[in-house]
Amino acid sequence: MTSLTHIEMTPDEFHSAVLEWFDQHGRKDLPWQQEKLAYNTWISEIMLQQTQVATVIPYYQRFMQRFPDVHCLAEAHIDEVLHLWTGLGYYARARNLHKAANIVSNDFGGEFPLSVDELEKLPGIGRSTAGAILSISSGRRAAILDGNVKRVLARCYAVEGWSGQTAVQKKLWSLAEQNTPHHRVGDYTQAMMDLGATLCTRSKPSCLLCPLQPSCKAFALGVTDKLPSPKPKKVQPVKQTQMLIIRNDEGHVLLAQRPPSGIWGGLWSLPEVQDLRDAPAELGLEIATAEPLEPLRHTFSHYHLDITPVLVSLKDPINCVMEGPPTLWYNTRQPQNIGLAAPVKKLLHTITGASKTGDKP
Ligand code: SF4
Repeated sequence: MTSLTHIEMTPDEFHSAVLEWFDQHGRKDLPWQQEKLAYNTWISEIMLQQTQVATVIPYYQRFMQRFPDVHCLAEAHIDEVLHLWTGLGYYARARNLHKAANIVSNDFGGEFPLSVDELEKLPGIGRSTAGAILSISSGRRAAILDGNVKRVLARCYAVEGWSGQTAVQKKLWSLAEQNTPHHRVGDYTQAMMDLGATLCTRSKPSCLLCPLQPSCKAFALGVTDKLPSPKPKKVQPVKQTQMLIIRNDEGHVLLAQRPPSGIWGGLWSLPEVQDLRDAPAELGLEIATAEPLEPLRHTFSHYHLDITPVLVSLKDPINCVMEGPPTLWYNTRQPQNIGLAAPVKKLLHTITGASKTGDKP
């Protein structure tokens, strides 16, 4: 292992180098940077969790056009919020946005609280998101530690171990706190996120362009590809399900609403069974014919779901009423504004012969 010269920067040197770089190279024209209100920052930060900037931009623009402030979002029906989220994935984020909007609108008169502790009490807002909202929208000194910043700090200070472990998390937070400046804190927050997203990338970081390179331990030790330490691997379990495609005389497809929490919570999906023989007992549906289609795999963060779509005709389609959750007949030619589970949207497009959905898990 080669070791180059490495000089640890003081916090002052660290944030000055980052801010100087930001002034020359940072992103300043993203849609949520135009008006740095707490609401705009909050929506963008939630959308940017697990999702790339380029993907988020059109979703953010559509969302803000429909819900320009926290009161509009609070008053909206959750179905419409989920509809505008369809394709972004991780739908708990949208449900939490809606819940938090109601709290801010009803309990705080539409003003976001001005402390990390209070912001963290809102659904879906963790310490890092709270720090980003506060620093960017109000200039208050608050540290952030999102995925990008974790990567920069883990490399710069050669912090070993998976960041999900408490001790590693604590170490990274303490580095994040120590380097956060007392002035231009919003710019610094944005700068650290940009640096992680554009230079200190997951693979092949652009170290030669990086303002932190003189003090970066991972660079000096030649271990940028080893840090941050990955999450210990676990074999993902595989679950199976069959999704029933049932059409009425007009060709509309039967959809059922998922329970409010859990996978695809509150979204509309095809009726599901593990075994077609269970359809009468579980769904109250008497199947006449069943034609399995090409299976597809949908991967969640903690398991794979192998889906077999099955074209089904019912023994008594007219009188049949599915038991349990709310249902609707979905017209694939004139889609309603409802949130659809990503693989269901894909399947509906496939069966109607439409092209690509552009969906994400
Ligand atoms: S020098 Fe390289 S590894 Fe170190 S912080 Fe900069 S981009 Fe990341």
